[in-house]
Amino acid sequence: MTVRGAAAADAKEEFRARQERLAGKLAARRLDGFIVSAQANILYLAGFTGSNGLLAVGQDAVVLFTDPRYGAQAAEQAACRVRVVRRLIEGGLVPVLKRLGWKRIGFEPSRLPYSMFEKLRAGLPGTVRLVPAESLVEELRAVKSAEEIARIRRSAATALEAFARVNAMIRPGMREAEVAAELDYQMRRLGADGPAFDTIVASGERSAWPHAGASSKALETGEAVLIDMGARQDGYTSDLTRMVALGRPGRRIARMHRAVLEAQLAALEAVREGVSCAAVDRAARQALRRHRLERYFVHSTGHGLGLEIHEPPRLGAREQARLCAGMVVTIEPGVYIPGVGGVRIEDTVVVTPGGVEILTDTRKELLVI
Ligand code: ZN
Ligand code: ZN
Repeated sequence: MTVRGAAAADAKEEFRARQERLAGKLAARRLDGFIVSAQANILYLAGFTGSNGLLAVGQDAVVLFTDPRYGAQAAEQAACRVRVVRRLIEGGLVPVLKRLGWKRIGFEPSRLPYSMFEKLRAGLPGTVRLVPAESLVEELRAVKSAEEIARIRRSAATALEAFARVNAMIRPGMREAEVAAELDYQMRRLGADGPAFDTIVASGERSAWPHAGASSKALETGEAVLIDMGARQDGYTSDLTRMVALGRPGRRIARMHRAVLEAQLAALEAVREGVSCAAVDRAARQALRRHRLERYFVHSTGHGLGLEIHEPPRLGAREQARLCAGMVVTIEPGVYIPGVGGVRIEDTVVVTPGGVEILTDTRKELLVI
């Protein structure tokens, strides 16, 4: 076997181990099978990267359904049986599910399109129950393997290098969209599949919108610019936010930046295996309260990431779930004052038994250009 062949065989073993872990969860819920419709979940369980697929997973069978455009690709990639369906793939699923004789079949309520659900319900006998079962695969995905962490680490290194290169180019007069395009271009040159999400470049008052996107507005001297970016590399995402100032920033923005940095460091300090997500969020909020800025912090402190940019766990005020070693999450407090501007500082980190490993380790002071 070639080295590449051996690596592919190892990967298929890993996919089968994931399928078995899911089958164990199905047994615990008395489900005979599960229909996976989220693309990232299909990729995680079977290694298939195509955009049209459904995966049926049970104790006794794992079958990927796709259309003829992906037939050859699925045959090579998928760590399971493949069925190529000429019409709607959910139509091809029905006779196979009938033959398997599954009685209680789980599905992903927030990921299965209603039209597909209807087609399945209409095609299956009345004795078969379709049972909504949220986040079964996402729960498996929350703790990353060493190989997955290595991919996220490479993705983060790409984002950091692209950020450094583009920082050297930023000048007043450049448009936000130009800066975003440069970041995306550099990430691709550095080996990314593309950006992990629409790159945010928000300058001046526009930064008060937490997800402002990048507009045709030109950057002006004296403004602070919020840059939120991440790469997707080998399928895995990263997420990084830093603030850049064009010349000396105003006193108010500088003060907001000091407070957010304090909150971000306090949250990072709180992260370790066994701590609740809510406790990490609380650490950030308490720091902002000392600066009377807590009410301007309008989102949660962070989120998991991996194959998707937003995955469980959510580091929010009401999230009692506990962090496990091997989870990869962001720590990203921010404050947004309409008419003034916004400040956010974000890192991608791996949870370890004693704390964190920061994958986006670069200076966080307000970068004055
Ligand atoms: Zn981000
Ligand atoms: Zn984020």
